Amino acid sequence: MAEDVKDCIFCQIVAKKIPAFRIYEDERSLAFADINPLAEGHVLVIPKNHAVNLMEITPGDLAAVHQASQKVATALMKAFKPGGITMLQLNGLGANQVVMHYHVHLIPRNRPKDGLTILEWEAKPGDMKAIEKMYKKLIEAF
Ligand code: 5GP
Ligand code: ZN
Repeated sequence: MAEDVKDCIFCQIVAKKIPAFRIYEDERSLAFADINPLAEGHVLVIPKNHAVNLMEITPGDLAAVHQASQKVATALMKAFKPGGITMLQLNGLGANQVVMHYHVHLIPRNRPKDGLTILEWEAKPGDMKAIEKMYKKLIEAF
């Protein structure tokens, strides 16, 4: 087993070496309660196979995780009747990813009274020239 997988906390949860409140699982994906919930019903959905981030996860596992997320989101709506659910997914240290095993956060929201202003931002109009420059650079990368 590769070093990163052996030390990966989420791989250890998949293998039941570390306990977790397992909410949903299928052959490829697992959903469990986040240990530091931002709100009631904060759930993480992961692939059972180790993959660090969005760039590395296989298309099949990616689809499975998002299909599982849909099931969990439906159950969250039924159980807690929140105003909405924020889906959050971080890639890399620069994006503040802490656990290096792909995961989707499902965070039930009741804005504004839940106080999660960290999940909100003001729209500031962009510079069209800068957006066009970004667009041309990104198109070239495909
Ligand atoms: P990230 O910043 O990488 O997107 O978030 C990692 C998430 O994993 C955090 O919300 C954190 O609370 C959660 N987490 C970290 N370690 C554990 C653990 O051992 N068990 C559970 N259930 N959640 C964890
Ligand atoms: Zn892992």
